[in-house]
Amino acid sequence: MNWKRWSFLILCVIAVGGWSNVPLRAQISQGPPAMGIPESQSLVGDTTALAREAQDWLVDLVKINTTNPPGNEQASAKYIAGILTKEGITPEILDVTPGRSAVVARLRSSVVADPSRALLLVAHMDVVGVDRSKWTVDPFGGVIKDGYLYGRGSIDDKSMVAANLAAFVALKRGNVHLNRDVIFLATADEEQFGDASLKILIAKYWDKLAAGFAINEGGKVVLKHGKVQYTAVQVGEKVSVNISVTATGKGGHASVPTKQNPVVHLAAAVEKIGDYTAPVHLTSIVRRYFEGLSAIEDDETGKWMRVLDTPDRGEHAQRVLSDMSPMWNSMMRDTIAPTMLQAGVRANVIPSEARAVLNVRLLPGDTIDVLVNELNKLVNDPTVKLEVLPDGGLAAPNSSMDTEFYALITKLCAKEFGGAPVLPFMSTGATDSAQLRLHNVQAYGLRPIPMTEEDDARIHGDDERLPLASFAKGVDLLTRIVAEFSVTR
Ligand SMILES: [Zn+2]
Repeated sequence: MNWKRWSFLILCVIAVGGWSNVPLRAQISQGPPAMGIPESQSLVGDTTALAREAQDWLVDLVKINTTNPPGNEQASAKYIAGILTKEGITPEILDVTPGRSAVVARLRSSVVADPSRALLLVAHMDVVGVDRSKWTVDPFGGVIKDGYLYGRGSIDDKSMVAANLAAFVALKRGNVHLNRDVIFLATADEEQFGDASLKILIAKYWDKLAAGFAINEGGKVVLKHGKVQYTAVQVGEKVSVNISVTATGKGGHASVPTKQNPVVHLAAAVEKIGDYTAPVHLTSIVRRYFEGLSAIEDDETGKWMRVLDTPDRGEHAQRVLSDMSPMWNSMMRDTIAPTMLQAGVRANVIPSEARAVLNVRLLPGDTIDVLVNELNKLVNDPTVKLEVLPDGGLAAPNSSMDTEFYALITKLCAKEFGGAPVLPFMSTGATDSAQLRLHNVQAYGLRPIPMTEEDDARIHGDDERLPLASFAKGVDLLTRIVAEFSVTR
């Protein structure tokens, strides 16, 4: 975009008082969006044909059922290895547990690798299960209908496996001169985070994966009324921790109940915990996210976002925004969701123990002990015991918003989507990026495929579907970003 266009945009902004009415360059129609032609080709040339190939790979990947458990990602890894081999790249299949593998490949910039400069393109091959009765098509059929690819994993995360593969192959085909190693990695077991996950891969094969930068899932490009509203780049995430709540009492015949029935004590404790709201703690990412979003939300919402942090109206604003969106609520505080209840074996027997599980999502920087203390005070019942379970996630530092790579992503996304803001994002759910960040990788969650919130909400749900025109756009943008960052002109 040249300066005349920029000044026109800026004038428009001044004239209408906000980004929301700015006529965007890359107008995207509704339904399956039809994308504009990119203004200039990436360093590796026109990606139109490549995107079509990537679409075929994606259809094939959806057809390989990698429902986790059991995962069976080895089949998927072999398929990807086949594509890489055909391109003259030597892939390596990393076996983790029987039937479960990852696949890695590297394009070298020099004989001696410098891991601190390397760029890792990572996506996971496994998917969550389906309730077939709720789907209108075969979730593993690779069905294309009305401009969408339907299927489990069509978005999460096989779209990114295919897009990463396309960007990687583009570098190879372009015979470019790389200024850093680029590593392609498709992982297993992300959805269960178990024995075959990235955590284990890192422990076993870190020398093959080590990088200074990474692109992973976790971000999004939000499409609203046919236009890109904003791009969210994930730079941090909340931490998942489980707590067990155990009430111990006096078991016996249900015909002679006492005050020591643990079911009653547990129910009371769960009710108090369910009503509890943790205090707001605005992290720097969340502050910047709301700041950016305030410019494109409606006037009323934007107004509350702008005063979130003020002493006089902050508290009220936090309440209003929390009520507006459960996700915004979760971005501002630790949350606690009771998820499991367990008690009793017979209708006429009072058990001696009753148990609940709470799933806690901590803000980065918050500690579980402080919260458990608070909950103990609240429950205030000596028969009820709270215990942190050992299966929790690990808190990782956020990725920096000051790196050259973050600046590049921001610049190219803004340019591609007609100046729509690019916002740092903290996801409320967990991704593999936490593992990478714990190993000093600046990992950014970026899914450069414009999508409506409605389509986005189908992830893990019924009739998951990917808008194919958006996918082509995503392949192009991702290829540009990777090429700009790693190719010497
Ligand atoms: Zn995912």
